Amino acid sequence: MATAPVGLARFANAGNPLIRDRHTADPAPLVVGDRLYLYVGHDEARGEQMFNITEWLAYSTTDMQDWTYHGPIMRPTDFSWASRDAWASQVHEKNGRFWFYTAVEHDEAQGSHGKAIGVAVADNPLGPFRDALGRPLVKNEDTAGPHHWDDIDPTVWTDADGKSYLFWGNANLYMAELADDMVSFAGPIRQIALPDFVEGPWVFERDGTYYLAYASMDQRLGPDERISYATAPSITGPWVRRGEITGSAANSFTIHPGIAKFKGEWYLFYHVGTLTVGDQPGGLGRRAVAVERLRFDQEGRILPVEQTQAGTLAQ
Ligand code: CA
Repeated sequence: MATAPVGLARFANAGNPLIRDRHTADPAPLVVGDRLYLYVGHDEARGEQMFNITEWLAYSTTDMQDWTYHGPIMRPTDFSWASRDAWASQVHEKNGRFWFYTAVEHDEAQGSHGKAIGVAVADNPLGPFRDALGRPLVKNEDTAGPHHWDDIDPTVWTDADGKSYLFWGNANLYMAELADDMVSFAGPIRQIALPDFVEGPWVFERDGTYYLAYASMDQRLGPDERISYATAPSITGPWVRRGEITGSAANSFTIHPGIAKFKGEWYLFYHVGTLTVGDQPGGLGRRAVAVERLRFDQEGRILPVEQTQAGTLAQ
């Protein structure tokens, strides 16, 4: 881009958590040209409230040190069929447009109470985004999960042949090929079996190997989610679990990977529950986005990531 997008506020990377003036969760990075955009949910829970997330916010940087806050880019109620809950999302660039796949609570007109995946579109990474379909791309009754929030946490991948795929799920991991219009499916919804899968899939490719990072749960390791990953020789699998990337997030039951290569380095965005803002301590519904470098060994295995205070602070 020739000119930097207009922002509301600038701040300097001061280590982790990266975003400190409000609670944020479920980070989703997107690299466009020389800029990394970061989309997050705005955690607004007060007191003992569990989750209260009414908008998605956008940030950007060109160097991982100086950051710009761009404000809210969309709310669940911008989908006429949704009622609340700006849960985990990802913005994906294809054919010069920006496709925003989101998880929201759909209204009762969509069938039984439950979470759904919507898709919005914009001509610019910062929007304005508008509902691209006018109804959910996936609603709860489209998949047979163990509960009504199995259709969440969308992640998108476009392969070298131009075909795009949506992965999503909680408890069950689903995958389907997107049609060229990006708002319908070109094939059936399939289920992928991965050990200890809970939620938060994030797909990417590196040197011909496909990676699927996800929030996992092995009760023997502890009561909180951790980040594991699987690899495959193609985007359609077969996926094999390779191990853990990082342990549980400090003071947070959930953890959520958002991974991007930016200016030659790989980064893992996630969230922790350690940030106090005003009189609201961190925790389940008041998370804070953090970031670390992601490194690979010579065989392409992801090296374990330690969650640090310094994060990606320039040395
Ligand atoms: Ca379902």
